[in-house]
Amino acid sequence: MKNFKKYLALILGAAMIFALAACGGGSSEEPAETESGGDAEVLKVVTEPTFAPFEFTEDGNEEIVGFDPDMMAAIAEDQGLTLEWVTMEFDSLIPALQSDQGDIICAGMNKLAGDRADKVDFGETYFTSNLMLLVSSDSDLSGIDAVTPDMKLASQIGTTGGDMVQAMQEEGKIAEGVVLNQWTDCYLQLKNGEVQGVIVDKPVGTEYLSEHSDIAKFAGEGFGDTEEFAFAVKKGNTELLDKLNTGLANLKANGKYDELLTKWKLSAE
Ligand code: GLN
Repeated sequence: MKNFKKYLALILGAAMIFALAACGGGSSEEPAETESGGDAEVLKVVTEPTFAPFEFTEDGNEEIVGFDPDMMAAIAEDQGLTLEWVTMEFDSLIPALQSDQGDIICAGMNKLAGDRADKVDFGETYFTSNLMLLVSSDSDLSGIDAVTPDMKLASQIGTTGGDMVQAMQEEGKIAEGVVLNQWTDCYLQLKNGEVQGVIVDKPVGTEYLSEHSDIAKFAGEGFGDTEEFAFAVKKGNTELLDKLNTGLANLKANGKYDELLTKWKLSAE
């Protein structure tokens, strides 16, 4: 009889251990891993960082600073994402997402321009703007409608400004639309008298003039279609886009968005 009770206790004990193991109870689980078995996925944010105050580098420093990195860092914290920033030319940004070289575009990109929305999926608008004509401080040019066919205008390749100066050249309104890879090159062309104007986004031109009003100024009022800056993801990546949009909505609700506008001297138009 004594042996029977011993066997019964052994069998019951084994059954309890098996039951615990089967429901995973009691063991301290390892932190979840991604499907690929690695740590949390690092998402690549691609940008062209000569677009102050949205994204730029300063004093030869590699770090990209500005409104966009601050906004994306706050969204990442809110949504539990891990980001790294990758620099490339503006007209390479959309192809980078299409070829899986990047996960997110954040570059003051106008989601309404051309066929961009056919190629990537844009999120909610985080800033609105329009274009301005930047001229030398001694220029008597009154605005974009006063340019003459002998003039040259510069802007950045692949941007709404770049497309506009190329269209103006094709229409014979200017002698040449000079499209360059970096905004800093466009400003240099103006400073050196190589071009008579630069077509640039108003908040970016304003930032440039905050330090160069001795050599440049705006000519006339804003023009072109209202631009809606938005981040973008690869076509179909709705899961990531929903996270980014939710994060942005949370920043707008909790005051962080307005705090960043103030930090970077931007006013939501
Ligand atoms: N907002 C303009 C565009 O979308 C310029 C953007 C930029 O140069 N980063 O084309």
